[in-house]
Amino acid sequence: PSDFQGKHVTVAGLGVSGVPAAKALHARGAIVTVVNDGDDARAREQAAELEALGVTVRLGDGETLPEGTELIVTAPGWKPDKPLFLAAGKAGVPVWGDVELAWRLRGPDAAPWLAVTGTNGKTTTVRMLASILKAAGLRTAAVGNIGVSLLDAVLGEERYDVLAVELSSYQLHWAPSLRAHSAVVLNLAPDHLDWHGSMEAYARDKGRVYEGNKVACVYNVADKATEDLVREADVEEGCRAVGFTLGTPGPSQLGVVDGILVDRAFVENRHANAQELAEVRDVDPPAPHNIANALAAAALARAFGVPASAVRDGLRAFRPDAHRISHVADIDGVAYVDDSKATNTHAAEASLASYEPIVWIAGGLAKGATFDELVAKSAKRLRGAVLIGADRALIRDALARHAPEVPVVDLERTDTGAMLQAVTEARRLARPGDTVLLAPACASMDMFTNYNQRGDAFAAAVRELGA
Ligand code: ADP
Repeated sequence: PSDFQGKHVTVAGLGVSGVPAAKALHARGAIVTVVNDGDDARAREQAAELEALGVTVRLGDGETLPEGTELIVTAPGWKPDKPLFLAAGKAGVPVWGDVELAWRLRGPDAAPWLAVTGTNGKTTTVRMLASILKAAGLRTAAVGNIGVSLLDAVLGEERYDVLAVELSSYQLHWAPSLRAHSAVVLNLAPDHLDWHGSMEAYARDKGRVYEGNKVACVYNVADKATEDLVREADVEEGCRAVGFTLGTPGPSQLGVVDGILVDRAFVENRHANAQELAEVRDVDPPAPHNIANALAAAALARAFGVPASAVRDGLRAFRPDAHRISHVADIDGVAYVDDSKATNTHAAEASLASYEPIVWIAGGLAKGATFDELVAKSAKRLRGAVLIGADRALIRDALARHAPEVPVVDLERTDTGAMLQAVTEARRLARPGDTVLLAPACASMDMFTNYNQRGDAFAAAVRELGA
């Protein structure tokens, strides 16, 4: 229903997406009930704000389906097997996420969406893409699962030519009618499987991003699962499959030749068979996984018709966010690099592949992951390892199995001073030319509030050492 007048809509979950969703629906004449599991001070505050507008709020019960509900709009994180959704399924009530709502509420002349999903590299790629689009003089913003809500971007005053949209697998699960201009699945590795139920279900939700694409479905040549998703997608006539690769590109691909990012999919001069876009050294940092991100961003921008010069200018203007392979300092010929955002093994593998020799600081909450593959692949690059956090024994055992010669320091403490000790131990293991790399392959919540705080603690420890 795009006409909400008099419709009974249940908004599942307060918070970043629920409050603006409830307001937008209420403003369009819907009879809105918000249900929320929690009942804390923050929830009460948000409830009071909505109740003042005439919205009904039910705190402390997010499970029972309110009588008469014709549509549910849910926060993306809510699990599909919740009783609320099972009841909705039985009653034939559709469920939308915040992205679906934004998609339905956008105006008739709204900006097209260039969509980015994948297990790792989403935020970086979306920000690179926005930087390239801006360099082309387009009015744009990086939105979605990245801080700026899609609803705000779609309903706000600001006019856009095109949006660079980051989408999580959760958001895609609840966005059945979304149709992007072009989209990319950067890579697929096991993550969030507890939520989706299986790797197949996770892949299927990621693959939704390609459904109905108009111009290009961009996939990762090195990750066949992404190409399979393109093949399975139902797209508009004329929509092309476009690959990106760190090697020499084939036809309809973007890739790298002699240190140059090259486009063989969208060539401006029809007498040429390739178009040079930028140099590898224009990308910050020029690590392999990040070149892949740059190629994916370039592919989407090129699909939108952006000239090669803007790709170069946009990549040059881009600077990575904090805690994503950030160079902190050089001390006595040793580089200290903060990749606290490497919160899973797939991400850590990318940063471990970017340096050699490495003194690796790792550990934290494993979230059910295993470390054998990561350690086996990275073993030959390791000078040593310093392990921290709750699940460090899992990494220690993997090191013992696959890299028995690598010296390991196992830090038992988890107090706030632990990071300083970890960095001190790492310095002791490192030789000039080495890199001390914080790439935990784990979540941070056992010792820190979040990955930002973990990275800040690392940087502070390095500075203390260098002083
Ligand atoms: P996301 O938004 O998907 O979490 P980010 O761009 O924030 O991704 O990057 C998170 C971490 O993932 C980075 O710190 C880096 O360790 C790793 N990473 C980034 N891009 C890639 C990639 N293309 N492949 C594998 N790992 C990556």
